Amino acid sequence: MNTDNSKKIYEKAKKSIPGGVNSPVRAFQSVDKEYPIFIKRGSGSKLYDEDENEYVDMIGSWGPMILGHNYPKVLEAVKRELEKGTSFGLPTKKEVELAELVKSCFPSIEKLRLTTSGTEAAMASVRVARAFTGKNKIIKFEGCYHGHSDSLLVKAGSGLLTFEHQDSNGITEGVVKDTITLPFGDFEKLKETLESEKDIACVIIEPIPANMGLIETEMEYLEKVREIIRKENIVLIFDEVISGFRVSLGGVQKIFGIIPDLTILGKIIGGGYPVGGFGGKKEIMDLISPVGNVYHAGTLSGNPISVAAGIETISILKENPEIYENINKKTENLVNKINELIKKYNVPATVNYFGSLFTIFFAKEKVKTLEDAMNTDSEFYSIYFDTMLENGIIVPPSKYEAHFVSYVHSDEDMEKILTGMEKTFEKIAKK
Ligand code: PMP
Repeated sequence: MNTDNSKKIYEKAKKSIPGGVNSPVRAFQSVDKEYPIFIKRGSGSKLYDEDENEYVDMIGSWGPMILGHNYPKVLEAVKRELEKGTSFGLPTKKEVELAELVKSCFPSIEKLRLTTSGTEAAMASVRVARAFTGKNKIIKFEGCYHGHSDSLLVKAGSGLLTFEHQDSNGITEGVVKDTITLPFGDFEKLKETLESEKDIACVIIEPIPANMGLIETEMEYLEKVREIIRKENIVLIFDEVISGFRVSLGGVQKIFGIIPDLTILGKIIGGGYPVGGFGGKKEIMDLISPVGNVYHAGTLSGNPISVAAGIETISILKENPEIYENINKKTENLVNKINELIKKYNVPATVNYFGSLFTIFFAKEKVKTLEDAMNTDSEFYSIYFDTMLENGIIVPPSKYEAHFVSYVHSDEDMEKILTGMEKTFEKIAKK
């Protein structure tokens, strides 16, 4: 496969952009490729690079593209909005429409604020939780990722795990001290910490972690987390930036029937355009300026183009519940077939999945914790990534991310993915 144009662009990119990329995981960690593929365009389930190679896209912009790239109705909605101007710095009726639509799907959200990214939404959620409780510290879980604000970059997942520095430099000791990190899934540790530490403002959690690879959370664990926090003056924050509108219209909280105090959203609520949002109980959200004194703002918050794409995407999902059946069934079938291939080739691989998300780990045993994920074989994952790319499929370049199945992935795409998997397993079986 000829990717010379990507290589040339990367050489230039490195001179003007740190690492040649605007977000670290885009840099690709692989055995064969020392440079990322530069994408020219996307259409449906496919991406096309600067050399016009076609790929089945299993990244889906890390989640938002549940309907695939440039889904005609979403594109039409955006085009209609573009005609009217792109940013006013003043409120628009559509922001209210999107807020109402989100509320109709997430009963735990009584009021919602829009942002431009998931990072900002998570950062503001923590701030408002501190104001509501009058306390300082936060509890987060190792390997969960909530964007790149200072207090949430301690023992974080996603690109931080990929590049083997779970904490970022440039964060003050005070901030690190105020962030308590605990192992995900270990209820006893949480209980002990809550008993000994009384200055906790919030517990923030990805209910289905997808930034240390996908981890299949046990519902009972989340129920226990909810119960213990209910008894204290602590805000429970579900980060559903990935899972919101992806695993169901009402996210993980709808599926498990577990109601957080605040929810963070992003990705799908902007239909592939820049957006984030956070919302929850009225008494917490009404602490935000201009009603209260917790400052949150943004020139592009609730940008009309993102909002139009979000409204159209969510409306399509709401009016067509069979979309969730379709993507979940497709994922289940794919995972079953991958498992058959794993058996056939007797390779050390295992798949975690939830709804339309999955991660393949190269390990013999099921991956249940961050430690398990870190102990999986990274070299085999690189062979997998390279083999898939050579066979026209883009999968996450890191073992710490999830694959995303969209409504427009076809049977033919699924066959292609399985062929790529088979070729990968053939190579790994010979190792
Ligand atoms: N929370 C979670 C669970 C995420 O996966 C991400 C990004 N992938 C974020 C927050 C941050 O969102 P953004 O990249 O839009 O800032």
